[in-house]
Amino acid sequence: MNRSEVVHILESNDFHAKTKFGQNFLCNENIINRIIEVSGVGPDSICLEIGPGIGALTEPLSDLCSKLTAVEIDKELFSYLEETLGDKVELHLCDYLKLKKSDYIKTPYDHVLSNIPYYVMTGIMKKLMVDCGNAEKMTFMVEDEAIARIICEPSTKQYGPLAVLVGVYGSAKREFTVPSDCFYPMPHTTSAVITLTRTERGFEITDDFCSFVEASFSKRRKTLSNSLSAYLSTVDVKISLKDALKSLGLEENIRAEVLKPLDFVELYKLLLI
Ligand code: SAM
Repeated sequence: MNRSEVVHILESNDFHAKTKFGQNFLCNENIINRIIEVSGVGPDSICLEIGPGIGALTEPLSDLCSKLTAVEIDKELFSYLEETLGDKVELHLCDYLKLKKSDYIKTPYDHVLSNIPYYVMTGIMKKLMVDCGNAEKMTFMVEDEAIARIICEPSTKQYGPLAVLVGVYGSAKREFTVPSDCFYPMPHTTSAVITLTRTERGFEITDDFCSFVEASFSKRRKTLSNSLSAYLSTVDVKISLKDALKSLGLEENIRAEVLKPLDFVELYKLLLI
């Protein structure tokens, strides 16, 4: 889908890109092809796309993969997609953050893609890792400046819950930059495509694990034990945090930002599973 096709679809349907839904539509064929290439989607893939928009990725994906489900919040765009791609794609009209797992996962997805609406990036990525943690690969278009929070090492300023969840899910790679003129309308920032490739760890990312990680970072300047004290008083722990840290060879006064993603997994298992 190129720029004049995007403009034509929007104008002929009297659609106006909605800022409140983070609508910046891809209008560069080369970028669309590269996204599909790095996603690793093939003829056997069962795919999920969040925010299909007017179908820039949806259409080529639907021709390529075995099954595609897409979730769109915007009623107008949903109706347009139903008309144009309804027989090739299972469409859901709703806010993805409110969608119940059982309502959209019949067969597990092996690939997830999203030119992610930037205003809900963190929420969407977290929900995907909880609901679709078994997917072998996730491919996202994100704001370039947000990558520092997604792909970073412990003990850095940006390291936090999102980087921990991504690290537990698998390995992350920044694939390529996408200049703002590849979208219509143009966003204010440069974007980039990243891929997350799953590593089998025999551990499921759950909402409870997310809450544990978030609580761990609730007081960044304090010790882990201080940050977690309120959270731990609301759950049944198997052993004390002090003993759990000791058995993992970690200091009692350690701070969350020093722990590696898999340290959070081990700690969580000792305390709560
Ligand atoms: N995939 C299209 C493309 O690449 O041109 C559109 C991408 S646009 C950046 C983000 C899309 O996500 C829009 O279609 C928007 O309406 C949709 N969206 C925004 N918030 C959403 C949410 N909470 N749940 C589902 N879709 C959402």
